[in-house]
Amino acid sequence: MTKELMFLIAILLTIGVFSYTTFRVFQYFKLTKPYPVKNWGKRFLLMFKVAFLQSKILRYPFIGFLHALVFWGFIVILIASIEMIIDGLFGTERVLGFLGYWYNMITASGDVSALIIALIIIIFLFRRLFHMVKRFAGIEMLKKSKMDANIALLIIFLLMISLLGMNTFYILGEPHEYKGYFPISVILAGFFHSLPEGQVHLWHEINWWVHIIWIFIFANILPYSKHFHVYMSIPNVFLSRLDVPGHLQNMDNVTKEVKIMMNPDQAFSEQGDTAEEVERFGVLDIEDVTWKNYLDSLACTECGRCTAACPAALTGKKLSPRKIMINLRARMKEKAGGLIKTGKEYSDDRSFIRDYISEEELWACTTCNACAKECPVNINHPTLIVDMRRYLVMEEAAAPVGLNVMFTNIENNGAPWQFPPEDRMLWTENLFMNIS
Ligand code: SF4
Ligand code: SF4
Repeated sequence: MTKELMFLIAILLTIGVFSYTTFRVFQYFKLTKPYPVKNWGKRFLLMFKVAFLQSKILRYPFIGFLHALVFWGFIVILIASIEMIIDGLFGTERVLGFLGYWYNMITASGDVSALIIALIIIIFLFRRLFHMVKRFAGIEMLKKSKMDANIALLIIFLLMISLLGMNTFYILGEPHEYKGYFPISVILAGFFHSLPEGQVHLWHEINWWVHIIWIFIFANILPYSKHFHVYMSIPNVFLSRLDVPGHLQNMDNVTKEVKIMMNPDQAFSEQGDTAEEVERFGVLDIEDVTWKNYLDSLACTECGRCTAACPAALTGKKLSPRKIMINLRARMKEKAGGLIKTGKEYSDDRSFIRDYISEEELWACTTCNACAKECPVNINHPTLIVDMRRYLVMEEAAAPVGLNVMFTNIENNGAPWQFPPEDRMLWTENLFMNIS
C-alpha cells in the first residue's frame, strides 16, 4: 500500500469520526433555547483582544505568559500541519517550500515554538502533579478531569517531540538542499549525523507518521474530554455577553404580561401572530438553557479561576461557578439521548436543579460577576444562576423565607417594605411640625 493511500484512509477515518461527533453535538445544541447575537463588529474586536492577544490570561504575568506562548505556538504549528496533510495526500514533500523567505519564517517559528511548548508542558505537568495548585481542586474535579488534563499534556508533549524529530531527520536526509529554516533541529541534527542514510529516512518516516496520527487522534479525543475548549473557547469569546456585567435581561414573556396589564390594546397588537405559549419560566433542566449557556459549558477549561474569585466560595459557601459549568455539560450528556429519541416529553425523573445544583448553591450567589470577569474564555455564569433562581421563584415559589417576605410586600405594598404606599411620607410629619 502506498503512503498516499494509507494517509487517505487515515484522514477519511478521522473525518468520519469527527463528523459523527459534530453531528452529535449539533443535536445537543438543537435541544436548547435561542440566544440572539448582534454587534458583529464589536465581537470581532473582542475576539482579537481576548482570544488572539490573550488579554485576560496575560493578567497573570508568569503562568499567563506561558499559556499565551503555547496558544501562539499552536497557531504557527497549525500551518505545518496543513502542509503535512497536503504532502500526505499528494505525495509531495514540503509543498509550501515555494513560499521562500516566508517559508523560512514559518518553519523557524514552528521549530522554536515546538521546543518552547515542550518545555512549558513539562512545567505544566510538574505544577499539576507536584505543586498542588489550590484552584485545580474542588468537589467537581473528578479523577477523570485530572487524568484528561494530564493525558492531553502528554499528547501535546509527544506532538512537539515528534515535530522536532521530523525536522531533524528531514535536515539529515537533505543535508545540502532542504527547504525552510530550523534553528533548533539543526542543532539536534548534529547529534545524529553519523546515522546511515536508510536509518535517517526510517526515523523521518516514524516521526512524520507519529506526529500526524497523533494530531488525528487528538482532534477526535478533544470533544470527549475537558479539552473541548480547544475548539470552543474562541467561538465562545466571540459570542460573549456584551452588555454591562450585572445587567439582567428582562424575561420577554413577563414583559409581555406587564404590558398587557398596563395597556392591553397595544400589547395584544404588538404580540401579533408570534405570541407563544410559555413552556416554563426560568431554567429547570437542560432543555430550558440557551445554546449559549451550553456553549459556555463546552468552552470551560476547568481552570478554576472563577471559583477562586467567587466571594461565596471563598467564604465557605457551597457554591462553585466552575461546578455549574461542569455539571451542565454532564447533565446534557445524561439527558440529551432520551430527548433526541423520545422528544420533549422525555423525563428521567431527574433535573439540573437539585440533582446537580442544589438550591443552597443557587441562593449563595451574590451576582457580583467576579466569576464572569475572571473567566479567560468569557463564560457568563451569573445569568444562568439567575435564570435557575427565576424558575424556583416563578414556578415553585421556592425562594428563601427572607425573599418571600419581600415578594409579599412588593405584591401588597408596591415596595419591598412592609408599609403601605400611603404611609411613605409619615416620616416627614415631625419635620413639618418642627419647621412650623
Ligand atoms: S456572581 Fe455568584 S457565582 Fe459568580 S463570583 Fe459572584 S457570587 Fe460567585
Ligand atoms: S468557567 Fe471560566 S474561569 Fe471557571 S473554570 Fe471554566 S474556564 Fe475557568
